[in-house]
Parts: sequence; structure tokens; C-alpha cells
Amino acid sequence: MLVLVDLDDTLCNTWEAARYSVLRLVPHLLRRRKFRAFFYILTARYRELEQSREFHTLDFDKLVERVMKKVYAKIQPDELEEITHLVDRVFFSNLRLYPDAIPFLNGLKSLGAKIVLVTDSSTKWQRKKLEYLGIKDYFDALIISGETGHSKLEPHNFRLARRLFPDDEVYMVGDRDDTDMRGGKEIGAITILVQRGYFRGRLAKHADYVVKDLVEALEVIRREHEARAKA
Ligand SMILES: [Mg+2]
Repeated sequence: MLVLVDLDDTLCNTWEAARYSVLRLVPHLLRRRKFRAFFYILTARYRELEQSREFHTLDFDKLVERVMKKVYAKIQPDELEEITHLVDRVFFSNLRLYPDAIPFLNGLKSLGAKIVLVTDSSTKWQRKKLEYLGIKDYFDALIISGETGHSKLEPHNFRLARRLFPDDEVYMVGDRDDTDMRGGKEIGAITILVQRGYFRGRLAKHADYVVKDLVEALEVIRREHEARAKA
């Protein structure tokens, strides 16, 4: 039994922590008279990043740099550093595991599952989060888009997970339909969408199950696993 698990907004509150960062960034931008960057946030133009391959593999500071350079043709390196530093500090002081994350991972272990983390973003940022959250050792493998060069908008990372641990019984647990669920379907996994975080409320087209938290996700996996054992 193989379980692929997403990190951001599935195991930890990434969107919430990022929102705190942005809230702290707003007065900073206004003080620095960076009105265009302020409107970029206000008008939610960051949504354009959702489908960008780069956004899913870049380092966080590179991402901030990319956005600021999009908004301003020219930006001073020290200004940029100040912004990245502020965002990073506020982000990590607000980042935490959801309370059901550890019981979920332990539950999977007790079912004898191989657990593979399949996550977008850069190596540095994702590893820093794992270190900070203290959950790295739960995983039999880490597949990070910044390392493989492929985002979860493509099937590559899901196929890679399956190649590492060939198994007929595969589950994919994540919060995003067009990456986690679609990628899971590509490799014949049972897909379980946890509705929380940034993508909550979006239409679920590729999910076999839609659940509200990881307690329910574990129940689904347990039930499917037992049904298979009987069959
Ligand atoms: Mg996610």
C-alpha cells in the first residue's frame, strides 16, 4: 500500500501563514510607497501564478523577486531583500501542522503504508518547512518539484513515486484538484481531496472522495484497505 501525500494546505496551514505575511507586507509597501505592489495584492492578481510552471518550482525569494519585477521594471536589491526577509519571518512564525496531521501519518504507518510526499515549490523552501514542522522522518521518500524539474501540473512526479514503490493499492491525499487529484488519477490512485486552505471550495473533478479533514481521509483509506483485503 502506497500513500502519496501533499504538504501545503494538506498537512500544514501554508495559505494561512502566507496570508499573515501578506498582511504584514501591506503597511510596509505603503510606507515605502510601493502602491503598485499593494494593488497587485489587493486585486488578487497573484491568482495568475496558479497555472505558472515556474511558480511551482521556484525558490520563495526568487518568487518574490519575480513578482516584484513583474510589477516594477526596476527594483533595488536591498528593497527586495527587505521584503523577502519580512515575508519569510512572518510566514515561518505562523506556519504550523494541522492538528490531525500527526495522527494521520501515524495511522498510515500502522496500516503498513509506504508514505511519499509529493510537493510543489523549491527544494530549499520545502525542506525548510519539513525541518521546521519536524515531520521529515515520516516519509519513505520526498518528491519535490524544484528537484525533479516537473510541477504537479504534469504527471511526472506521480509516476516517479509509483516507480519508487510499485504497488497496486495507491492513494493520493491532497487539497488541490487540478494537481493532486488529477495527478493521482494518472497513476490509478484512489484520490482523496481534503477541502481546506487556498483551494477550498473549488470544483472537485478528479477526486474519488471529498473530505473535510485528515481524520476522514484516514477513515476512507482504512475502509478501502479492508474492503480490498476481503475481496
Ligand atoms: Mg497543497
